[in-house]
Amino acid sequence: MVKILQLPVIKLPQEAEQLRSEVRQFLEDEQLKGTFEPHCDSWLSGFSAEFSRKLGEKGWIGMTWPKEYGGHEKSPLERFVVTEELLAAGAPVAGHWIADRQSGALFLRYGTDEQRRYYLPKIAKGECYFAIGLSEPNAGSDLASLSTAAKKTDGGWILNGSKLWTSGAHHSHYTIALCRTSPLNTDNRHAGLSQFVVDLSLPGVTVRLIRLMTGEHHFNEVVFEDVFIPEDTLVGVEGEGWKQSMAELAYERSGPERFLSTFPLLVELLKMVEGNSNTQVNIAIGKLIAQLWTLRKMSIGVAGMLEKGITPSVMASLVKDLGTQFEKQIAETARLLVSSTSSVSSSIAFERRLAEALLHSPGFTLRGGTTEILRGIVAKEVIKN
Ligand SMILES: Cc1cc2nc3c(=O)[nH]c(=O)nc-3n(C[C@H](O)[C@H](O)[C@H](O)COP(=O)(O)OP(=O)(O)OC[C@H]3O[C@@H](n4cnc5c(N)ncnc54)[C@H](O)[C@@H]3O)c2cc1C
Repeated sequence: MVKILQLPVIKLPQEAEQLRSEVRQFLEDEQLKGTFEPHCDSWLSGFSAEFSRKLGEKGWIGMTWPKEYGGHEKSPLERFVVTEELLAAGAPVAGHWIADRQSGALFLRYGTDEQRRYYLPKIAKGECYFAIGLSEPNAGSDLASLSTAAKKTDGGWILNGSKLWTSGAHHSHYTIALCRTSPLNTDNRHAGLSQFVVDLSLPGVTVRLIRLMTGEHHFNEVVFEDVFIPEDTLVGVEGEGWKQSMAELAYERSGPERFLSTFPLLVELLKMVEGNSNTQVNIAIGKLIAQLWTLRKMSIGVAGMLEKGITPSVMASLVKDLGTQFEKQIAETARLLVSSTSSVSSSIAFERRLAEALLHSPGFTLRGGTTEILRGIVAKEVIKN
């Protein structure tokens, strides 16, 4: 078998399982208090500043970061358990999710000490949110064709261009924007790109909403018109933005949110079919649970790679591809097994979750890199080895 496609088999340590009980209890208490109702895809569309702050107080944001930057020096496996429980409960975590998952990690890897001291403690408190500034109207899978430009000026840079599908930009404080800082070199299209942290409240920044099919608003177009950003907003090295963004994408693709987005629907589906003795129903549910268990083992394996300091780009792509197909499969199975009229405003929880899952699911295999792009990454690595 091709060695590159192997994942470590990890048993979660005792401290991680203890933490799981604590997180579960907290989530149960919050639900009893009526703080939130579980929703599908809550990591991208469930926003609650209050809830993010509560998680910050608990020490469940920036968990693996050094204490000197406001982190808690926990292991990636402990972080896995917390994220898994939050997703399974469909909790409103979208506010801080991207900052915690990838922007903080980017600062730790490439940022200056000053940037780490400024941004990380606020993120860990659940009070500072980031949006991903990669895609543009004419640059998605072919990201290197992006045209948002940062031009050097006295004391900083001037930004012009626009970013698209920017999840959470309307409630985020910053975006990390990948920009062209040198003209396009057709021999090396990845050269001349740089990353900047852009304050979304600056003059010249416009955030325009884009509605989802559900009528909700979670992503946006972000337009930069002669936006001045100071020199110290450069993240990492000028011209190295491509390499840095690809490292950021490994964090973006590697977590359990890539197979648990529709888990709250699975919970409602199980309630609907409880006691059903129909063989077809039982086979369909059995298949889902078997897939879920396998994906979970694989995803823990990816967290185990992070724990060993390995950047899991290829395995994260593989697990994301399989996981996002599975998230869709839950919605499709639920739709076929239970006769219902799905609607986000239904009085029946199953129907609300089904509507959310069905209407969000077209995006699952696009966001964070499409199925075709992920399979390309895996295939290239296999051929190389
Ligand atoms: C819900 C959601 C949230 C998102 N949030 C963000 C965000 O916060 N920040 C951000 O920057 N972006 C975000 N995106 C954008 C996402 O990253 C892009 O949609 C994705 O990279 C695909 O780009 P595109 O939409 O331009 O499609 P295209 O790149 O135009 O692709 C269209 C189709 O062509 C296929 N294709 C393209 N190139 C190839 C190839 N070389 N080989 C085979 N097939 C190919 C693709 O697989 C796809 O099926 C989000 C998208 C969604 C759906």
